[in-house]
Amino acid sequence: MNIPFHRARITPDEIDAVNEVLRSGWITMGRATLAFEERFAAAVGAPHAIAVSSCTAALHLALVVLGVGPGDEVIVPADTFVATAEAVEYCGARPVLADIDRDTHCVDPAALERAITPRTRAVIPVHFAGQPCDMAAIMDIAQRHGARVVDDAAHAFPASIGGAAIGSCADLTCFSFYATKTLTTGEGGMITTRNPEWADALATLRLHGMSRDAWRRYSGETSWRYDVTRLGYKYNTTDIAAAIGLGQLARADALRDERERIAQRYSRAFAADAALIPYAVRPGGVCAWHLYPLKLNLDSLAVDRDRFMALMRERGVATSVHFIPLYHFTHFKGRGWSPDGFPESEWVFAREVSLPLYPGMTDAEVDYVIDAVLGIARANRR
Ligand SMILES: *Cc1c(COP(=O)(O)O)cnc(C)c1O
Repeated sequence: MNIPFHRARITPDEIDAVNEVLRSGWITMGRATLAFEERFAAAVGAPHAIAVSSCTAALHLALVVLGVGPGDEVIVPADTFVATAEAVEYCGARPVLADIDRDTHCVDPAALERAITPRTRAVIPVHFAGQPCDMAAIMDIAQRHGARVVDDAAHAFPASIGGAAIGSCADLTCFSFYATKTLTTGEGGMITTRNPEWADALATLRLHGMSRDAWRRYSGETSWRYDVTRLGYKYNTTDIAAAIGLGQLARADALRDERERIAQRYSRAFAADAALIPYAVRPGGVCAWHLYPLKLNLDSLAVDRDRFMALMRERGVATSVHFIPLYHFTHFKGRGWSPDGFPESEWVFAREVSLPLYPGMTDAEVDYVIDAVLGIARANRR
């Protein structure tokens, strides 16, 4: 059997919706985008949602709205996708790393608080794999230190903690609709917030700083005249993407349940083997299950993570690693960061293997992945 790491599932209805947009004569940001924003906002219980071209763009604009700039520091987890830190650098600000928690792989609130300085303007928790961070602790720390919270929720739709949806907890929340994410539009992103002034600013910033809704001038709904009120960006989405998004949104809860069932089968199977560390969700959390991050107990295995992945590949199962901690990258050399400073990220990085996890995986495929993992673990005992 050959099992890819990810397989996107776009339904015939979603393809029809895209065709409808293509035939409509209006294919960039327009009515479908407005409908997508409205329904997404309702889904996460936030009053405002602004669609953009990616989560990276969303993170950048969220920081711009907060006025983050040169001389400022923004705290990000040491083990995240590089976009989280790059968005900080787009603003001329300095990313500061905080170590993660080895069970959840989310930022450790105590490490986050230790990283705060008088220059800290914002913190960006990442809901790793769709696992909600401890938002009560993080919001409390940020408030006590006068910092804003921008959630990187690229993995976390739909997810919640203590009954509150991710998207309604932080000052601003950034979602990704990239090809492999839990809701996809091919490429895309969304920012949600409760703050109407930020929402207005975001709508302007995503399209060249043109006065809000200037793009509607083509539809004859408003005058051709518009103003450019500030430096903006070309970060808008399209109605083609929004049409896919609307379809995916309607199925989002069912798709999450399907991923959770697969994750639970993985966890049950792996709990029986001391060489394997299943991934668990914190009490009170509902996980979006973007990833299934299995960890290897290297004390009981004669192989390391890389060799384990190679053996999985030999059996036809594609796996991945989330993530390479940021301090390993060439771009971030010379900043005084080293693996010694982030022992938990380093511990997780040595052990983590992400397994295939997506709706549409057959029972036979899930069984095959489980058998491959258990078989390799059994054959390679220390
Ligand atoms: C995918 C991802 C992003 C970037 O999302 P894009 O929509 O591709 O820009 C940001 N942060 C994390 C943690 C991600 O996994």
